[in-house]
Amino acid sequence: MRIPLIAGNWKLFKTLDEALDLVNQLKVLVKDIKKVEVVVAPVFTAIATVSKAVKGTPIQVSAQDCYWEEEGAFTGEVSPKLLKDAGCTHVIIGHSERRQYFAETNDTVNKKTKAALAAGLTVLLCVGETLSERESGSTFEVIESQVRGGLSGISSDDLKPIVIAYEPVWAIGTGKTATEQQAQEVHAFIRKLLSEMYSKKIASSTRILYGGSVKPDNIKGLMAQVDIDGALVGGASLKADSFAGIVGFNN
Ligand code: PEP
Repeated sequence: MRIPLIAGNWKLFKTLDEALDLVNQLKVLVKDIKKVEVVVAPVFTAIATVSKAVKGTPIQVSAQDCYWEEEGAFTGEVSPKLLKDAGCTHVIIGHSERRQYFAETNDTVNKKTKAALAAGLTVLLCVGETLSERESGSTFEVIESQVRGGLSGISSDDLKPIVIAYEPVWAIGTGKTATEQQAQEVHAFIRKLLSEMYSKKIASSTRILYGGSVKPDNIKGLMAQVDIDGALVGGASLKADSFAGIVGFNN
């Protein structure tokens, strides 16, 4: 049984006051929602504040990235251990914006994933093809290399706290959602790949989220697909009512 997970990626938005305001509104709006895991990912500077604010509620907190070393002379970096210390339970790794603008590679994604798992964080591992990769027919090849690369050397025991997020790059922040069929096709491919890499059991228990212009009015159709287990939401997670509308997709 895969419990649906809806995660909001706040990206580089929200001051401390704005983050607190958003999460306090959310707490009220999602308080009666059952059987859906809710995660929010504020900027690093708001993690501790938001974590304190959600204590005792079902809302969990994620970071948007991490480094792979625990500590040392790595100016500007934040380790998984420090994220846990600040109240995180989850961390997003390999988001396409990090791959695109911050030279993230499958190798760095893999190092970060291993470090985050070792620290006891649940990893939201992002994969997704660009528009030109889709148009040239290499979607599955790209997804396979990102999944294999990101999970390289990770055993089935360590894989348990992993969630894969399929986010076609051409659908992120563009208002262009993949059709339910396009998304389902790639989710099914990822599940089959996990079954080949690990086992059928692991594949059927791993949650695979869809991300890319998810809104309250398209979440239901996406969630109706057999291999879509939740969503990673950017823009629509910045307003409490739209994010709550997505979290409450089956109400
Ligand atoms: C994201 O940032 O992961 C994302 C999916 O953004 P948006 O929902 O705005 O497309």
